[in-house]
Amino acid sequence: MGDRLTNSEEKGGGPLLNKSKDFGNMDVNLAIIGGTGYYHPRLLEDSREMTLDTKYGRAKMIIGTYGDKTVAFMPRHGDRHQLPPHRVNYRANIAALKELGIQRILSTTAVGSIKESITQGTLVIVDQFIDLTRNRQHTFYDGDDGPVYHTDFTEPYCPQLRNHLSNVLGGKGIPFVNGGTYICTEGPRYETPAEIQAFSSWGADVVGMTSVPEVTLAREAGLCYATLSMVTNLAAGISPHPLTHREVIDVVKEKINLIRELFLEVLAVLPQTRSCSCWEKEDITLEE
Ligand SMILES: [Zn+2]
Repeated sequence: MGDRLTNSEEKGGGPLLNKSKDFGNMDVNLAIIGGTGYYHPRLLEDSREMTLDTKYGRAKMIIGTYGDKTVAFMPRHGDRHQLPPHRVNYRANIAALKELGIQRILSTTAVGSIKESITQGTLVIVDQFIDLTRNRQHTFYDGDDGPVYHTDFTEPYCPQLRNHLSNVLGGKGIPFVNGGTYICTEGPRYETPAEIQAFSSWGADVVGMTSVPEVTLAREAGLCYATLSMVTNLAAGISPHPLTHREVIDVVKEKINLIRELFLEVLAVLPQTRSCSCWEKEDITLEE
């Protein structure tokens, strides 16, 4: 690990690496990003906190072991939900995980359902997104750090991770929706019924505030990324009552222990080899 970072630094580091850090012999390539209501990994052993300074800012995480795996856990909103979705430093978070050697990320997102058929408490393995965010640092390739890449997003969420998630969920007999479109709004306000109606006509299934740019930065960094969305409420105009954060927290609380176990189970059975193409980067060398 130390060698890898040193080598990267010697090569100039690319857009993601700032300064190297001695992680000893730790081999950690799996990460969990916890969304609303998921602030501690719990089931990890020998866990310790770690702070990493990247060129995009500071990121905090907890590193621990689960069986023979070392896992990094990062609470997206901070350990006390102090960061609203539009102020999360997504670039620092993903850059830190990349620098740590992470190759795969599983995350949770709390979402509102845009379809009455997707009821409160449902788990959704989303496979597409629509991005309506406006004021976020959303790319590592802004032209200052080297070549400009236009990254392919035909398959935004890692198919291998999604497969393993669905297999573990199915194996446990837990009902879930396999596939769906996540529309990401800027927040922190909830949406209007008119917005939800428009989103529905665009084909969106669930609405949330955090999957983008987390998923896009992960792909730019060559990391596999999947999210398990928890439907915490019906969206505005579908819900019979006004939306509250309390309702969101209450539903997440019911599910969070299940999700902790699920994620660690998925991470434990994942084969070492990545069969997807999330890490591939287009060769943009121009030939005269
Ligand atoms: Zn992948």
